[in-house]
Amino acid sequence: MAGHDSAAPVHGWTVDIARLRRDHHGRRTVEGALDVVDLELPAARVPSGMVEHTFDVDATGTDVMVTGRVRFDWRAECRRCLEPVDGSGEVELREVFQLAPVEGETWPVVDDEIDLEPMVREAVLLALPTTAVCRDDCTGPSSDYVVTVGAEPTDEEVAESTDPRWAALDDLEFD
Ligand SMILES: [Zn+2]
Repeated sequence: MAGHDSAAPVHGWTVDIARLRRDHHGRRTVEGALDVVDLELPAARVPSGMVEHTFDVDATGTDVMVTGRVRFDWRAECRRCLEPVDGSGEVELREVFQLAPVEGETWPVVDDEIDLEPMVREAVLLALPTTAVCRDDCTGPSSDYVVTVGAEPTDEEVAESTDPRWAALDDLEFD
């Protein structure tokens, strides 16, 4: 285990399928926390770029089955007040890698290797929030100045405007 382990079937997000079949009976758990490039949407991102993952890689058949889950922390902007909102996401994955992948459905096996990173990136991007709010009753940015300038009557104005009505009521009560 010390030093670089060139015999290991897993390097970063890449799994050597030939080695997995030869040395590990075709099955192996792949887990840890690794960097994924470009985990960013306009309104949300993974600030650390790190994704925790646990996958069962099963290459005992012709296709390679990858099942497991990813976990990540995200940061978004509240769509009402634009303050930062932090959260975490977890996604379950069950994917197939093939020599002749089906566009949009399965992933490629290239040179006896599979690269888990594009699959993980797609899953995380799909799970990032597109409309986050900092709290359910967020009403947007502090709007004290915008709303009240020139709109809210002063105490004097309130007193003046109510006086005539009270005066009229006094008249009615006279008889
Ligand atoms: Zn907010």
